[in-house]
Amino acid sequence: MCLSFIRKSRFFISARWYHSSAMEFSVKVAPSVVGAAENAGEIRRGNLSLTGRTGRMCRIETPGCFVHTQTGSIPHLTPDDLQYIDPAYISNPPPLNMALASLSMLAPSVEAFGKPLSTFVGYPDSFVYLGLNDPLKPPKPGSNEKSSMGLWNRAGKVKVSPEAFLDLNNKLHPDMLQIICDMDTQLVGASGQRLTKSFDSSLSWLDLFLKSRQGSPVEAVPVLATVGGGSDPWRRENFCKEVATRAVDGFVVDGFGDQWLSRWKEWESTGDLFESHKDLVSLSLRALPETKPRFLHAPLPPKAVIYLVEMGVDMFDTSYAAALADRREALIRTEDYAFDVISLGDQKYFEDLTPLSTRWACYTCKNYTKAYLHHLIHCQEINGGVLLMIHNLNEYLKFFHDLRQTIDNGSISLWKSQSSHVKVATNGNGNS
Ligand SMILES: [Zn+2]
Repeated sequence: MCLSFIRKSRFFISARWYHSSAMEFSVKVAPSVVGAAENAGEIRRGNLSLTGRTGRMCRIETPGCFVHTQTGSIPHLTPDDLQYIDPAYISNPPPLNMALASLSMLAPSVEAFGKPLSTFVGYPDSFVYLGLNDPLKPPKPGSNEKSSMGLWNRAGKVKVSPEAFLDLNNKLHPDMLQIICDMDTQLVGASGQRLTKSFDSSLSWLDLFLKSRQGSPVEAVPVLATVGGGSDPWRRENFCKEVATRAVDGFVVDGFGDQWLSRWKEWESTGDLFESHKDLVSLSLRALPETKPRFLHAPLPPKAVIYLVEMGVDMFDTSYAAALADRREALIRTEDYAFDVISLGDQKYFEDLTPLSTRWACYTCKNYTKAYLHHLIHCQEINGGVLLMIHNLNEYLKFFHDLRQTIDNGSISLWKSQSSHVKVATNGNGNS
């Protein structure tokens, strides 16, 4: 299947494979065509097949995404609401991205429950990838010490030792996990001493975890190493080169501090993408092996995703769809390759009897008008967030589907040629 997939296109110059007992990843590579010249990487198009702890399988086309959750739930939705997510754009049940930081408190309960975390949170058939932090809740600075790293949950800071980290994962039963890393490396203001500590402790923790998991219940699950290194190019490049030699199945590019996440509204409003980050992202990706998948987690507007795909990132999450629904905003496809964001709290939608999208109809667009959504939001009805999330999630997942198609037929440049950046909403606070 992989070979026929690759032969179909004349745009791809080479193919890569990675195979372990827990992961198969085939990726074909083409030169970037529309990325900034100094950061242009390789566009990657692949298939990721994962085997979880209980033998559960998960197959995702890349570039693709896991569905973002908060404390185990898809924001605004119940498991029953998944029937409104178009199966053409994501497998059903969907693969879920959860955060260890927010779920660490549940570990004793999940252990006592006796079944995996996926069952505990109501998605028994979903593949669960346990990352470290919620992309919408950046880690707080100053949370790491020599013998422990800090996770923040609703009880405050939890100090986690290497043994405790393994124990948490044993109790929570994820199908894939992100290995903890010292990411307390702000892009501005982090001292050389702090960066060195981060570098040393992260590598030490990675090695300790890989050794301690041997013979443990999590030995069989795929593991992703976190790529940090902070803002120093030398440290970042060398950190990536070190991590690339370890027996891990993939990588999460991170370590940019909380400023990375707090700037997503800026990316959205200006269309200018993380000037201070892009060289570091590019540096990280170039230092990693081409055969293994690269993940990056943040609430990313479509243009940011396209930019990162051009740099060589494979996997993302759907936290952007949730962030918009939280703000009572909707992602709208305005042209074949362009998006806008509208705020349903704006008074101008009071009598607007059109659906959110006239280009294609999700459940929300088939059944409801902007005027009704505006009414729900102003009455603070819970259904307002539900209907917006159904729309945003469908729109975001369809974007990934269409992005893959343009990569396959060599037309990814269409996304740039039609000014695809998302404009700032007219009334971002949802009030009017
Ligand atoms: Zn819709």
